[in-house]
Amino acid sequence: MINQERLVNAFCELVKIDSPSDEEEDVARHLTDRLVGLGFSVARDTHGNVIASEDGDNPLMLSAHMDTVEPGRSIKPQVDGDIIRSDGTTILGGDCKAGVAAIMEALESAKEDGSPRRPVQVVFTRGEEIGLVGAANLDYSMIHCKEAVVFDGNGPVNTITGASPTYMKFDVTVTGRGAHAGVEPEKGISAIRIASEIINDLPNGRLDEESTFNVGLISGGTVRNAVPVEVTFGGEFRSRNTETVDLLGLQVRETMNRARAKYHEATIKEELEMMFQMYTLDPNEPVVRLVTDMLKTMDMLPNIKPSGGGTDANAMRLNGIDCIVVGMATNEMHTVNEYVVVPDLMATARLCQRVMTPNQ
Ligand SMILES: [Zn+2]
Repeated sequence: MINQERLVNAFCELVKIDSPSDEEEDVARHLTDRLVGLGFSVARDTHGNVIASEDGDNPLMLSAHMDTVEPGRSIKPQVDGDIIRSDGTTILGGDCKAGVAAIMEALESAKEDGSPRRPVQVVFTRGEEIGLVGAANLDYSMIHCKEAVVFDGNGPVNTITGASPTYMKFDVTVTGRGAHAGVEPEKGISAIRIASEIINDLPNGRLDEESTFNVGLISGGTVRNAVPVEVTFGGEFRSRNTETVDLLGLQVRETMNRARAKYHEATIKEELEMMFQMYTLDPNEPVVRLVTDMLKTMDMLPNIKPSGGGTDANAMRLNGIDCIVVGMATNEMHTVNEYVVVPDLMATARLCQRVMTPNQ
């Protein structure tokens, strides 16, 4: 049976292990030990993702990511009744360790109960928060699953991601010409002026219900008294509408072309790259039916919602795995106000056990 004390303790232990993106080694080792203890054969692919396998046909993948965002070091979880939060100086790391803890508790509980269950492959990825790089670089030759339940959604476990956007990133470098700002400014071309004009011309914020645009990085210039030679800035846009993604891509290119025409002595270089691709959940996919059926056995109705973010499921789907993303009981993710609701965490673990034992 799902055990609340064990689950909450394991969750708190997990968030106390620092694992910002690219520094997942400690948590990977901790999870490897626990999975070995549960009888899995655990392997790491060349990218460092943790893949735990067992014998049996048609395994179901249970997946969550190991990395967290910043500020995410020395997290001190505070259990206050039904709520777990940080001490207010860091995130909690419930994204995605609530998902990890729920999967581990479901496995512990299933082992304890000893009832027959569907074989599973547990996949804990790295670098989800920095562009799904763990899932994108996962060694799919080691994966024997056609279906996956990904524990990485906001809110209670019945919150199912119904659609996820395409995500494009772009980086721009503007190179002007340096000059002494006080002696001969007329000889210079200010990269900062050009970059700010470009940024001002680009779309910004929420564009419509399914599309957003953001410039989130900028750096440039070296000293106060020189016309700045170089500026780089970076941003991203996302939409659940393919046409909008294409149009925004064109708009970025056209904005650069206009600036190039106006400042022909400057150099403006842009790079656009798709980080992940949109999908819309098909309610008739067997894994979707499995999850919604199991939710019904728990007297929960599936709450299917579109999401503005991507998860490992976007990358896994590109590799032919039918995925469903469910809520993992955390809220206000990526902020210092992040909190996990204990009864929701219990429900997440329960659902996880039920998808392994659908006929019980
Ligand atoms: Zn996440």
